[in-house]
Formats: sequence, structure tokens, C-alpha cells
Amino acid sequence: MEQLPIFLNLNGRCVAVFGGGIAAARKAEIAVRAGAVVKVFAEQLSEEFAEIKQTKGFSVVTRAPCVDDLTDCMLVYCASEEMEQNRKVYAVAREARVLCNVVDLPELCDFTMPSIIDRSPVVIAVSTAGTSPILGRMIKARLETLLPAAYGRIAAFVGRYRKRAAASIADFTQRRHFWERVLDGSVADLVLAGKQAEAAAEFDVQLEAAARGAKHRQQGEVYLVGAGPGDPDLLTFKALRLMQRADVVLYDRLVGKGILNLVRRDAERIYVGKLPKEHTMPQEEISQLLLRLAKEGKRVLRLKGGDPFVFGRGGEEIEPLAAAGIPFQVVPGITAASGCAAYAGIPLTHRDHAQTCVFVTGHAKEGRINLDWELLLQPRQTVVVYMGLESIAELTRQFIAKGAPPSLPVALIDNGTRPNQQVLTTTLDTIAEKSAKAGIKGPAILIIGSVVRLSERLGWYVPEEQASKAKPAAMPVTE
Ligand code: SAH
Repeated sequence: MEQLPIFLNLNGRCVAVFGGGIAAARKAEIAVRAGAVVKVFAEQLSEEFAEIKQTKGFSVVTRAPCVDDLTDCMLVYCASEEMEQNRKVYAVAREARVLCNVVDLPELCDFTMPSIIDRSPVVIAVSTAGTSPILGRMIKARLETLLPAAYGRIAAFVGRYRKRAAASIADFTQRRHFWERVLDGSVADLVLAGKQAEAAAEFDVQLEAAARGAKHRQQGEVYLVGAGPGDPDLLTFKALRLMQRADVVLYDRLVGKGILNLVRRDAERIYVGKLPKEHTMPQEEISQLLLRLAKEGKRVLRLKGGDPFVFGRGGEEIEPLAAAGIPFQVVPGITAASGCAAYAGIPLTHRDHAQTCVFVTGHAKEGRINLDWELLLQPRQTVVVYMGLESIAELTRQFIAKGAPPSLPVALIDNGTRPNQQVLTTTLDTIAEKSAKAGIKGPAILIIGSVVRLSERLGWYVPEEQASKAKPAAMPVTE
């Protein structure tokens, strides 16, 4: 280990900052944030520094520090733009035996400043021992995405109960297991959801049971999670967190490999269908399976393409759970309409084109499409058709028969947001033929309305596979 990470308690302690520029201002700011009394040594403060001073309130001495100035300090930052001056102050700090950091000169640093992920009271510091602050910042950015912003709340919550738990559960191992359950279970979920009172009540129940030495039986629960249209980057933080926690996952055809790879490695995987004509597992059975697994005490992840409440039958799947009193959470996902529209450069609403947008299913029952044509043919409106690929010929024929202009722009987006995304843009009267010719297999979505024209200018998504062929013609394919 190059350096020892520690967390300093600077509360009420003195910290000296040498320099009047922006680098010095940042150091002064962070020291103030950590509760230090900051003394700035600078002949002149930059405008920005002076502004920060107004709100943070630290004292300023208009000369370089001498040994006496520094002896009562815990840390010194040398952040002047004049490197020679910094070196001099470093020597002074050495003489005063105070730990010193010279900005951008790792060899003159008794300590280095980490990149900080602040979920106070949880704080994570990333150090590269001064070798590459940029790498440190990149690692920080990745960690920021992994930790829910409310993690600090969990730490604060737990902090309040630490003594009580220690008094109630004497055995160390038992206590550790108890805390693991609290931090990785319903109590933490409730705190994250901002339900402090419910979290406290649940905590009491669990603590009381643990104190009695009751054998813990994990309460099963179900996470109904929207996985988005395909690109794993479109998952929500919450989805990812629950995916990492599941004991068993039920997934269907719309959930791609890239997303499935993010589910906890040792979770059991159950494929539940369903291709349009081949129902691997009837809906009723899926619901019953969810119920049975949860009753066994498992954390069951039901992973669905897009959003579970948009043509996802999510409501039906959780009804039996609600009736049986099984705890469940529903996590929204990016629905195919938004994902495909964004990646194809088609704003679903636009001041000049459409003020409303409707989502319908083109799924035909016994060969018949049953849609509210009056609603769909409104002007200045975008219509998005889910599950419309199979019936595309009949669907577009009926659109025109009911009064839509044959020249109405249409986009068919196949495998939207995925590396094999294809976008066909044309008009209502030719899309069926064009789709057949291109051999589109789906999943695919239809966007109907004049907003489709904007894709020529706004389409930006070039799937990686095609980009590597360095094809100059921009996606999407347009007429
Ligand atoms: N709950 C899902 C929709 C399920 S219905 C959601 O919110 O997106 C299944 C239909 O969704 C498919 O027939 C297709 O029309 C559409 N779909 C899902 N993923 C898609 C994708 N990546 N590209 C294009 N269409 C998609």
C-alpha cells in the first residue's frame, strides 16, 4: 500500500491554506465542509475565492505563513499558483511539523487528497497516491452511480440504533447477522424509500425477534423490475440494486443477455417465455410461481422488458401477491416507446408536430384488431403501436381505410436501443411491404405521425456493430 487511508476529525481544528486562486479556494471549501477553522494566507484573493469567503467565512492573512502561524494547525495546503512560493511554504510547514499538501507536486505531499464520494455520514475516498487524479475521478464517477443518494440516510438510521442492538443481542456473530439482514433487507428498503416511521417499526420487530433468539426465517419478497428495452445502460440504479440481491430470477424473451449478466451470479434463473405464439408459461402459472417462491422465503426478481406496467401484465402478476400479503416492490423501466424514440431521434411530442401521444397494442385477437380509430386518427398526435409487427399489413390497411393519409410518416424500430437496432422510416402505405422485405423479426415498435420526419435530423444512434464497419451513411435508414 503506497499510502494509509484515514479519516481525520477536523472539527474545530485549524487548517491553513496558502494561495488565493481557485485551487486554494477548493481546498478551503472542503476543509470548511469538514468542520475546520480555516486560515487563508494570500496576498490577494481571486474574485471567485472572495465570493466563497463571503459564504464560508474564513480569516485571511495577506502574506505567506511563518512557522508560528502553522504550529497550531492540523494541516497545511500549499495551493498558490507560484510553485516556488509553494516550495518555500512547504519547508516552513516541515519546520512547524505540520502535515502538508502541495497541489500538483506529489513528492511534496505528506498526504494527498482523494476523490470523495459523499453520502455523509458515509464517505468514500479514492486515492491513486497522486499518480493520476483523473483516474481517481473516473473511479469516483462509477462509484457514485452504484450508491443510492440516500445511503447516508441508512447510515444515520443505523447509527441511532447501534447501542440498542448491542444491548439487546449480546452475541457478536448473532448481532452481525442481524445487522446484515437489516442493511440488506426491508428495513433498508424502507429507509431508502423515505419511510422512516415504517422502517423504525420494522426494525423494532426484527430486533425483538433476534433478541429472543428466534431462528430467523427470511421473509420472501418479489421485485417486479422493468429492465428497459435492451441497452443495459438504461437500467435504473434501483433495478440494478435489486437485481444484485435476488435469489431467483424469472425473465422472459425481451430481457437480453447483457442485462441478465447483471443479475447476481448465483441467483437461479427461470425462463418463462414468451414468444408471440409460443407461451412457455401461462400468465397464471407465472403468478403462482412468484407466489410459491416468495412463500419459500426467497427474494424473487421478476424481470420484464421495458416498463412492467406498460403492456407488461405487471398488475396481474402482483395481484395474487398483494392478496396473499407478500411484500413486493415495483421498479419502473424505460418503456419501448421512449427508448426506441430516443435512440431513433424521434421526439414523441413536439410543438410543431404533436401535442399528444398514445400507446396502443396492435396485438390481434383471433385475427381481429380492435382499436379505437376515432382516438387514433386525431390530428397533431403521435401513435405508438406495441406488438404490431405481426399484424402490420392489416393494421396499416385499416389505418388508411379509417381515414389516415397514406403518406403519413411511419417508423418501424426493430430491436430498439440494442446493437442490432434497425430503423425503417417511410409512410403508412408502404411500411408493411418494406418491413417484410427487410425481414424484420422484432421485437419492433411502430411510431406513426409527422414527428417521424425529425429522425432525419435527430437520429444519432449508430449501433456499435455498424459503426465498426465505418459505414458513412448515417442511421437511421431513411427513404
Ligand atoms: N413492457 C414492455 C412492453 C411489452 S409488450 C415495455 O414497456 O416496453 C412487447 C412489445 O414491446 C413488443 O412487441 C414490441 O412492440 C415492444 N418492444 C419491446 N422491446 C422493444 C425493443 N427493444 N425494440 C422495439 N420494440 C420493443
